[in-house]
Amino acid sequence: MHAPTVNATSHRIAEQVSELYGLKPRRYHAPRSQQSTEYVQMTTARRIDGKAKAEQLAESITGQTASLLKKHGITPGLAVVIIGEDPASKVYVRNKKRRAEACGFYSVQHTLPANVSQPEVLKLLDDLNHDNAIHGILVQLPLPGHLDEQAITQSISPSKDVDGFHFINIGKLTAGHTADAFVPCTPAGCMLMIEDELGPDLSGLNAVIIGRSNIVGKPMASLLMQRNATITVAHSRTRDLPGVVRNSDIVVAAVGRPNMVKADWVKPGAVIIDVGINRIEETIDGESRSRLTGDVDYDAVCAVAGAITPVPGGVGPMTITMLMFNTLRSARLSAGLED
Ligand code: NAP
Repeated sequence: MHAPTVNATSHRIAEQVSELYGLKPRRYHAPRSQQSTEYVQMTTARRIDGKAKAEQLAESITGQTASLLKKHGITPGLAVVIIGEDPASKVYVRNKKRRAEACGFYSVQHTLPANVSQPEVLKLLDDLNHDNAIHGILVQLPLPGHLDEQAITQSISPSKDVDGFHFINIGKLTAGHTADAFVPCTPAGCMLMIEDELGPDLSGLNAVIIGRSNIVGKPMASLLMQRNATITVAHSRTRDLPGVVRNSDIVVAAVGRPNMVKADWVKPGAVIIDVGINRIEETIDGESRSRLTGDVDYDAVCAVAGAITPVPGGVGPMTITMLMFNTLRSARLSAGLED
């Protein structure tokens, strides 16, 4: 049997993303969990390679960008606004810019000082809202404390809100009108990986999302519900979290607490999506080092789960690539082109 070609794989992912937005029905593939009865008896979980999937999706986006320029003379434009000197934000913004350029986008970065005033930020966003070369705008969070985050995110035009944080986009997602909405990038990427494991229809499956933030937990719940999963959204006030997780076929951990989800919380064969990014210090051979870890106790959970995303290399790369997908989509929609 031949392995699928890169183009075939890219095409399949493009179809999958289109379906996420409710745009095209797709042929049903038997979910991995139904392809083998031995699935739940495995002792080592399948590692869900978000990095590889993100690369394949980026390749598809690059091809579509070239075709958009050739056929319609349009180059997707992404503007990233960063305020202040937060080191993690600088890394995220640099990665987004690099990825945008690699996809063939026009990419601009606006770096504002930490003491910039609210009216100055709003003026810049207003200019970008009216700039025809820009199809996607994002303001890197968190913001310095004197700025009103909500007023700033809500001042981005919903049609350029590629982060999906505007109330109009949140409302459309919640109501199931994703055809002309932007879905927040992290849950959109998680959804594609869950679908790879379990297929597009999650009927009869229980899902728990640990964390109820506006950028991850709540939109993740909407997406999973639209795919017929039965949802529990857990948070810091949830009683018996291990018991809730033990009852779940799908676990999305978005808390920000290193290695919180333990192996004895996990139902055998469950699909685990680890959104958490935590920097921890550890001493190896007497040397102190820092490294990234997720919210799930990865090595131990691997012995129980059916499939699991690593940190790094799981949700993170998919998030950036979904931002590129949203920007390309915005450029196409602005020109009245169908997805
Ligand atoms: P957030 O806004 O801080 O929300 C954290 C959530 O976790 C809250 O709902 C909180 O509950 C809940 N929580 C805290 N302690 C808990 C506990 N002991 N038991 C159960 N729930 C608890 O965080 P976020 O922005 O959603 O991000 C979550 C994590 O994902 C962070 O590590 C972040 O860095 C990471 N992240 C990664 C990506 C990516 O691309 N990979 C993208 C976004 C975020 P309450 O609401 O009750 O306080």
